[in-house]
Amino acid sequence: MFKVFLFLFIFVNSATANEINLFTSRHYESDARLFKKFTDQTGIKINIISGKSKILEKRIFEEGNNSKADILFLADAGALYSAQNKNLFSKIKSEFIKKKVPISLRNDFWVGITKRSRILYYNPNFLSKKEIEDISYEDLSDKKWLNSIAVRQSNNIYNQSLVASMLEHNGVNNTKKWLEGLVNNFARSPQGNDRAQILMVASGEAKLAIANSYYYALMLSGKKGIEQKKAAEKVIPIFPNQLNRGAHINISGAGIIKFSKNKKKAEKFLEFLLTNDSQSEFCSNSFEYPVIDDKGVDKPEYNLSSNFKEDTSIDVSIYGKRQAEAFKLMKKAGWN
Ligand code: FE
Repeated sequence: MFKVFLFLFIFVNSATANEINLFTSRHYESDARLFKKFTDQTGIKINIISGKSKILEKRIFEEGNNSKADILFLADAGALYSAQNKNLFSKIKSEFIKKKVPISLRNDFWVGITKRSRILYYNPNFLSKKEIEDISYEDLSDKKWLNSIAVRQSNNIYNQSLVASMLEHNGVNNTKKWLEGLVNNFARSPQGNDRAQILMVASGEAKLAIANSYYYALMLSGKKGIEQKKAAEKVIPIFPNQLNRGAHINISGAGIIKFSKNKKKAEKFLEFLLTNDSQSEFCSNSFEYPVIDDKGVDKPEYNLSSNFKEDTSIDVSIYGKRQAEAFKLMKKAGWN
């Protein structure tokens, strides 16, 4: 009897140890299915703790050494930078990771896992291709787009990253002027999510929408219902700044928590997310782009073309460094 008890004790003890705790602000069921594959391959269980990035960051920071978090997985390079600033991450050591992911999409503390672009959409019933094909982010402040542009609020981190990139490229004064012109061109007071902006263009209430690339593919896939699928079919995505630096790029990425007692397993998990198979899963489920060389990565037919010029001239880390400054200027320009 005692022997059985002892055996059970050891079994349970080792079973609970073979797991990692993943804190994530991503909200896709498909992520969980992909993580299950890792468990099947390695026996390491992934416990998912979901929440908004600021809340997860605060929790790990306050728990400090007692934190059970092994990995923090967040959308937007700015959110990762914020967690890095709180000193939550340990340094990435894996040579595999460093080899797989270009330096513009990672730093010493976190690595991009998926990639997205923040782009424009138009409805060919209301605008001709000629009017739009060579458009840049800079052009959005032009008076010709008065009452034309749909975009979400300034508290949205994707917008803050985009403006941070404008600050980095064009400087403070030009960005101030640009913001004033842009806000003046809004079709309505900013509201709703990225998909709501695409709907505005589909219905003709706005001429141009600003939204992340994967939302369009998500709508087209039908996963958000027939109405949204029909709306997406009416609009055409356009990648800005193709004649110069390329379209704005952002990531969703992860780092290993400094307090983790499972760093080796956590590293193994991040490496798993960067394999061809996992990157293909992200592409076909959440419609993001791979961060690794995309030869050997499968893309679904309704995903957006990945055949466009990307802005690789600045590291995505910059967004985090300049987001607060960007937000202040956006508010000042009247972007609610
Ligand atoms: Fe998103």
